[in-house]
Amino acid sequence: MLSVFCAPSRYVQGRDATAALGEQLVHLGLRGPALIVASERIATMLGDAWRTSLDAAGIVFVTHHFGGECSQHEIYAGVVAARAAGATVVIGAGGGKALDTSRAIAAEIDAAAVNCPTLASSDAPCSALSVVYSDDGAFDRYQFYARNPALVLVDTSIIAAAPRRYLVSGMGDALATWYEARTVIEARSPNQLGGATTLSAGALAELCARTLYADGLAAALAVDAGAVTPALENVVEANTLLSGLGFESGGLAIAHSVHNGLTAAPPTHDFLHGEKVAFGLLVQLVVEGRPQEEFEQVRQFCREVGLPTRLSDLGLANLDAPTLARISDLTVAEGETAHHEPFTVTADMIRDGILAADALARA
Ligand SMILES: [Zn+2]
Repeated sequence: MLSVFCAPSRYVQGRDATAALGEQLVHLGLRGPALIVASERIATMLGDAWRTSLDAAGIVFVTHHFGGECSQHEIYAGVVAARAAGATVVIGAGGGKALDTSRAIAAEIDAAAVNCPTLASSDAPCSALSVVYSDDGAFDRYQFYARNPALVLVDTSIIAAAPRRYLVSGMGDALATWYEARTVIEARSPNQLGGATTLSAGALAELCARTLYADGLAAALAVDAGAVTPALENVVEANTLLSGLGFESGGLAIAHSVHNGLTAAPPTHDFLHGEKVAFGLLVQLVVEGRPQEEFEQVRQFCREVGLPTRLSDLGLANLDAPTLARISDLTVAEGETAHHEPFTVTADMIRDGILAADALARA
């Protein structure tokens, strides 16, 4: 198996970065026309900044409103709009699902993909894959693309103005990155690119966790105050860049499969990706039989910043046996990354891991 590592062509982050969108596109030779995929709320918030920046760069653009779910139906609507606009660049602005949708549209029409996350809530923006859901929010499939985004531009002023919960959810997604990559490295399993891991991916994933333990709480408090601070910049980079490169080139394991399994329980649909991944990470550590101190370090961090550690935190206080069985079966479905562990993972092991992780977190 060859080692494979991939990344976006360019990553730009900082206060008021939106104002630099036009010049960054020109720098990459991307002169449009552009289709911007964003919710109505984001388009209203950023419309003036886009117009100023893209007009100055001489880039023509149209805005396409995103409906909220990265589903086949939404992707198709965007492709129609992109073709009508003759777009050669597709810019996604918003949360993970808006960006997943915009990347799928860009791939379909072979345009350059640009991601402008307005939340640091997941590590999707740097990757060359989308998570596609059904119209009612159940996990459908991973969709892989030939190229990573041409540009990822993160405006930390916008992230600082968003509710704390989104940044914290991103920390849940990012914290799992190191523990999942470590498993893939130990097991010599394939990463999300189907290749072997590199030293680089492992180092980035490890730095990601270290950054969160050092700056996670300070960054959450900065967002509470609406403030852009060095701690916030570090955590935004961890959630977006380090975790993005770390999960894709480092690989995934049980934590993300538990996330996918949890989507079978409707009460979890109100919870964010990283919130479910955080609980999945606790399950992974139990199933792997890791030392109690390690479980405790993860659990404490999650409690401190406000990530779920118990089933009741995910709306599953009264989890019945059939639902638990459905979650466990889905977690070990064919193709799931739970099978990247160095041992055979069964639904029974996941069921017991879920119950034990919940009991440990409640103790
Ligand atoms: Zn994730």
